[in-house]
Amino acid sequence: MNDLQRKIKKRIREARRILVTSHVRPDGDAIGSSLALTLALMEAGKQVQVVLADGLPAGFRHLPGSELVKKRAEGEFDLIICVDCSDLKRVGLALDGYRPPDIVIDHHATNDAFGTLNLIDPEAVATASVLTRYMRGWGLIINEPIAVNLMAGIVTDSIGFRTSNTNSEALRQAAELLDLGVNMSKLYYLSLVRQTFPAAKYWGVGLSSLQLTDGIAWTSLTLTDRKAAGYSGDDDADLINVLSSIEEAEIAVVFVEQNKNKTKVSWRALKPGIDVSQIACQFGGGGHKAAAGAEITGSLQEVRERVLEATRGSLKG
Ligand code: 5GP
Ligand code: MN
Repeated sequence: MNDLQRKIKKRIREARRILVTSHVRPDGDAIGSSLALTLALMEAGKQVQVVLADGLPAGFRHLPGSELVKKRAEGEFDLIICVDCSDLKRVGLALDGYRPPDIVIDHHATNDAFGTLNLIDPEAVATASVLTRYMRGWGLIINEPIAVNLMAGIVTDSIGFRTSNTNSEALRQAAELLDLGVNMSKLYYLSLVRQTFPAAKYWGVGLSSLQLTDGIAWTSLTLTDRKAAGYSGDDDADLINVLSSIEEAEIAVVFVEQNKNKTKVSWRALKPGIDVSQIACQFGGGGHKAAAGAEITGSLQEVRERVLEATRGSLKG
């Protein structure tokens, strides 16, 4: 066990009241990792609060422990752990009034090491994979409900073992978690395949105005589109993953209008050797080489122009 692992183990052993948090707009890895760690710490007799600034999206209520998620922390903590989050800003209001995390556990290369102890492995397919690797070494158990959450993180962040960073460790871990009782086909369906009818209608709106210019497949979703489709989220309902299948494109981009002066952008690199996290970083966002995002100040049209120009530039460079 290296020095960092020893320090993490000691902090966990000595803590009584623990806060577990992750990023705004939580995805399957943010939620699966938070819940897996929370349940394991509770099994170890700790008092744990799991706080996500935006709460739990409805699509993740099937995960064990999901009912524990709160939007704000209460009281004091001896230990604050943040998972799957690359910078303090992205924690949102979950740590409002609290110190920065004591421990950061993540797999984003763009992580700026904002914790006191930082366990960051950019090679890992998901933060849940980092947790699966180390949790037992920290004296924590992995039982079936914990395994379901870890598998949810691994399966969603690798989009069902399809991303280019999918490695043998992730597949070995999946096999191990399966042996602990995870129902893989059910989890795969619930966390990756299933969409609501309004989400499919919303995809339809985005797909109807799809463009392919200079190797970039892109489209926009406006507030009006969202309303027309009856979609209740403020994201792209994973439309970006649909665009990622377009063989003529090198990069896929989706713009989602948030309000008159804020636009959410998602990028996916569709060919090896392209790093979209560098483009996202130019706009204050982050992520991975193959998948990155940013929330950018500016109207949909303004942001679209700036982002498409920068994205074109990255393909030329
Ligand atoms: P998505 O496009 O699905 O929202 O995110 C793709 C990847 O980029 C994920 O790994 C996500 O954590 C990261 N990401 C998305 N939006 C932001 C952002 O605003 N800031 C940072 N630092 N990372 C982001
Ligand atoms: Mn995430």
